[in-house]
Formats: sequence, structure tokens, C-alpha cells
Amino acid sequence: MPIVRFQAGDTVMGRWPGSNLYYEVKVLSYSAKSQLYTVIYKDGTELELKDADIKSMTGFRQGSGRSRSRSRSPARTRRSRSRSPARTPRRSSAHTAERRKDKLKDVLEVCLSPVTMPLVNNSNNEHEKKEENDRASKEVERVKEEGENQVSSRYNLRRRKDQGEEPTIEQKNAEPVVLLAAPQQTSKTIELEFGGRIGAFFLLLLLPVVVLALLILCGQKDSSLLSFPRMLPPLDSLWDWQVFGITLLWLLFQAVLFLLPIGKVVNGMPLKNGETLTYRINGFYALIISGVAVGTSVYNDVDLGYIHNHFLQFYTSALLISILLSIYLFVRSRWTTDDERAPAGNSGYVIYDFFMGRELNPRIKGFDIKFFCEMRPGLIGWLVINFAMLHTEMKLQNLDTPSSAMLLVNIFQLLWVADGLWHEEKLLTMMDIVYDGFGFMLAFGDLAWVPFTFTCQSYYLASHSSDLSVFWILSIILMNTVGYYIFRKANSQKFAFRRNPDDPTVSHLKTIPTATEKSLIASGLWGFVRHPNYLGDLLMALAWSLTCGFNHIIPYFYVIYLLVLLVHREARDEHQCRKKYSVAWDQYCKAVPYRVFPWIY
Ligand code: NDP
Repeated sequence: MPIVRFQAGDTVMGRWPGSNLYYEVKVLSYSAKSQLYTVIYKDGTELELKDADIKSMTGFRQGSGRSRSRSRSPARTRRSRSRSPARTPRRSSAHTAERRKDKLKDVLEVCLSPVTMPLVNNSNNEHEKKEENDRASKEVERVKEEGENQVSSRYNLRRRKDQGEEPTIEQKNAEPVVLLAAPQQTSKTIELEFGGRIGAFFLLLLLPVVVLALLILCGQKDSSLLSFPRMLPPLDSLWDWQVFGITLLWLLFQAVLFLLPIGKVVNGMPLKNGETLTYRINGFYALIISGVAVGTSVYNDVDLGYIHNHFLQFYTSALLISILLSIYLFVRSRWTTDDERAPAGNSGYVIYDFFMGRELNPRIKGFDIKFFCEMRPGLIGWLVINFAMLHTEMKLQNLDTPSSAMLLVNIFQLLWVADGLWHEEKLLTMMDIVYDGFGFMLAFGDLAWVPFTFTCQSYYLASHSSDLSVFWILSIILMNTVGYYIFRKANSQKFAFRRNPDDPTVSHLKTIPTATEKSLIASGLWGFVRHPNYLGDLLMALAWSLTCGFNHIIPYFYVIYLLVLLVHREARDEHQCRKKYSVAWDQYCKAVPYRVFPWIY
């Protein structure tokens, strides 16, 4: 006869399926037959838990500090969830038979059902609140009915005792069944992204070639895709030691600015081991000092046209540096502990991990290499290149002033970069910092892709100067302004809400509670589409490309790339959010059906 440790009404700590996270729950009942407790989480989620998944409050508090801090920190929850190996095994990933066996050994069978969670209205207006609540109740009823038709009415968590065991009648009837891997001690990456090992291998080869092709076409008088040269450019047009030296000097200059003891020091998101890293936020100062340095150079007759004339060589220098950096990062990651490894780049497959990055936050004596590369040399370099292209256009086209198209591109992109550096701290909550390792994908992306593909409009305009009509100028400015407004407002709202949901700037927004300590914003821009910040970014990208007219598709490379990137990123994020928030995410998707483009996608 099993001992019943808890009674109905007891408040205890219950483990969240597929993770090591415990939340405060109330015991509703105990079934002697199934030997499971039915518990309810604070948000109304009901689950059936085994005795082993429940701890008493006192026992939990006396437990290790580690568990305690885990349960408290929302950020911890976020990271831990995304790291959790509780991911449905990827169908296409080739794993060894032994691995599969290991995974199956620890499989938890979880039947998930939608949980009815009311939209929470933060509004202070009682009448509005009542109306909203009525509406929310109807929505809840609807979701409930739909949910009941699909699945059983409660979560059901039980461990398979034996792989060969016959499923019980209840298990047979429960649909759909989601298989979640049990928490593992080592956080191996089970689910491979970007097409797995083969995808990573092709991307490794393809990305550098794509940039080279883009630059060759952009720099030609005839930039049509059909006029791609049959022969590769001669080697001396691809490599120059002086250019390589200048690129290294630029990196060094930015590294010195990065280390300047100016600007505030902030904490990053909590890491797997509960610690946080500190970051100095001085990107905007670095931008101003770099601007002054470039201005002084031009004043002293330094010819910025050199950048245009040696553009391919600058690219190959940046490419070589990013490859060398990736090799260094991969080698040093061999000595990292499990805590220091990235959730996404720790599969055990060399090519895949080299591409994704095995170490999450590689640092040399406090110098954070990823944070540095993400925001500094490439991003500020992008503006310097734009400025150099503006000079080149005037020189090549014999203009007294730059063309309106070139001016718009320079101004818009300066605004975008300055905005990013002004809000540099917000990068610390982004997927790149909290989830992705630092490997070839980011090193190449930051040092080579950003400065040499994001500049495609200005590089194109340098030899395809275009003066726009007033109507076009106004339309493009309007599009960029709308895009910027959506992009900035959405990102700022989310950041403010995550920092403090009671912040007066966001406290009026409706929210959906989740089983974690975080809620989801479900009104305003975040109630319009699920990724309004992506929509804003894409509108701006389109505005930049439109400055180049419609003669060639090449200057539209950036907006096409961004579309592909953000659609893919949205899918990655959606996948993570569904794991983190489960039914609350489903409810959000029902309430906000469009991902990025209203009424389209
Ligand atoms: P988001 O800023 O959209 O972050 C996604 C995270 O936000 C989710 O994981 C979730 O995390 C949280 N979230 C999602 N929905 C909600 C909601 N309704 N309420 C509250 N929180 C929510 O994505 P990214 O980090 O990918 O992008 C940030 C910006 O950077 C975007 O504007 C994007 O356009 C831009 N970007 C630009 C690129 C370029 O090359 N130009 C490349 C990549 C990004 P949690 O709940 O855990 O907080």
C-alpha cells in the first residue's frame, strides 16, 4: 500500500513535465488506483504527478540553493526550458542506435490538453475590465470546448516502467500523446536545426560563396543575375595583405573601445548554473568615437574610396578572420564544462557544433568575444562602408552632393545601427546571446555577412546612382518611419514587460498567464501579430531596397535574406515558446493567429 504523503489542499512544489523546474502547486486529490496526485498550478493548469515529482514546501526550502533559485527566476526558467532536452526527437536527425536506446530509457509520456487560462486585463477601468472578462470567458469556453474535443481534460504525467510494457487503456485512448525526453544530466543537443549535419555542412560552404557572388554582381555595371561572370576574379583582386592589416586594425580599434571603462555595467540573463555574467554597455560611445575618428580621417584627406576599390579584399580578410576565430572557438570549447555549453551547439557532431558554436559565452579574461562581435566591428563597420560608398558615388558620378537614394540609405541605416547600440542592453535577452553558441554561424555572420551584405544597397548605388522623385522619397520615408515605429515599440514593450510587468508603459496591456512565472502580452502590437518586431524590421528593409529602384533584384538581396531569416527564426522561436509555455502558447496563437504579416502569414 503506497504511503499518501500529501492531502487535498496541501501546497507543495510540483515538477513541470520534462524539466527540472518546480512550481508551487496545490494538491487537489490522490488516486490510489493510478497512484497519482492531481495538482493545480497557480495559473490553473492541472496535472497528474507521481509522488516522486512532488516535494514538500519545507523539504524544498531545505534543499539545495540551486533548486530554490531555479524555481524563482523567470529568466532561469526561460533558459532552462529552452535548453531542456525535453524536445521531441527530430525525425530527420541521424542518431546512433545506442543514443536512441538511452533516450528511450528515460522517456516520459505526457498527455497534454489545452488549459483554460483567462486573458488578464491590466486595465484600471472597471467597466472595460468587466467587458474584457466577459469576452475572455467566452473565448475560454470556446477554447475549452475545442480542447475537450481534441484531448483528455488534464495533463497526465507518468513514467514508463518498461519499454515493453503494454499501454494501459487510458494511455491507449489518450490523444495526442507527446513524448518528452526526461531531464538529462548532460545537455546534449538532440534536436538539430538548420537541416542537421548536412544542412550545416552546406551552409558552411554556401554562405561565403553567396556573399562573394553578391559583391561581384553588385559591383558590376550590369548587375543582372544573368550577367554573372563565368570566370572567378583573379587572386590578387581577392587578397591583399595591406587590406588584411587594416581589417585587423579596425578590430583592434573596436576592441579598445569595447574595453573603455565608460558606460554602465549590467547583468546578463542567468546562466545554467544560476550565475550571471556582467556586461559593460558602451556601444553608443563606441559609435560616436568611431564617427569622430572617421570624420577626422576624411578631414585629413584619407581616401575612403580605398574601401570601395578593395571591397572584395576586405571581404576575404573578414572571411579569413571569421574562419580563424571559429576554429579557435571550437578548439577552446573542448575544455568547457557542460554549464558553459550552448543548448544548440552541443550535439557531438564536429561539423554541426563547429557551425552552431559549442560555447555559449566565450570570454578571455572578461572580454566577451560574442557580445563584442555581435554589436561592434561589423555593425559600426557597416556604417563606415556606407559612408565610403557615398564618397565613391560622388567621385565616380562627378556629383557635388550624394544622390537622394544614397543619402536615404545612409541616414536610414545610421538610424538602425544607432538605435541598436543605444538599446545595446536589450541584446542580452536575445536568442543570439542566451541560446546560440558562438561558432562559425555567428562569427561569420557578425564579421563578414553583416558588413558586406547589409551594405549591398550603398555598394550598388555607388555605381548605379539614382535620384528619386519627391513622391518616391516621401513614400520611402513613410514606410521606413512606420517600420521603425513598429520595430522599436514592439521591442521596447517586450523588454519593459519582461523586466517589470507593472511598468506603467505596459501595465495596460492584456496578458495571458503561463505555467511559468512569465506572462505573454496579448494586446497592442503583440496582439496584432505574434512577431510585430519582425514586421517592422521587414518594412524598413523593404524601404532601404526601394531606394535602388526596380532595374535589378540584387539590391533587394537584404530584404529577401531578412525575410528568409526571420521566417526561419520565427519558426525556431515558436518551437521554443511552445515548449516553454505549452498550452498558454497555444492559447496565444489562437488569440493572435498571424505570425508576422496580418491576414497573410
Ligand atoms: P523577439 O524579440 O521576438 O524574442 C522572442 C522572445 O520573446 C520569445 O522567445 C519569448 O521569450 C518572448 N515573447 C514572444 N512573444 C511574446 C509575447 N507575446 N509577450 C511577451 N514575450 C513574448 O525575437 P528576436 O530576439 O529574434 O529579435 C529581436 C529583434 O532583432 C527583432 O526586431 C528582429 O527583427 C531583430 N533581428 C534582426 C536581424 C537582422 O539581421 N536584421 C536578425 C535577428 C533579429 P520569453 O518569453 O522567454 O521572454
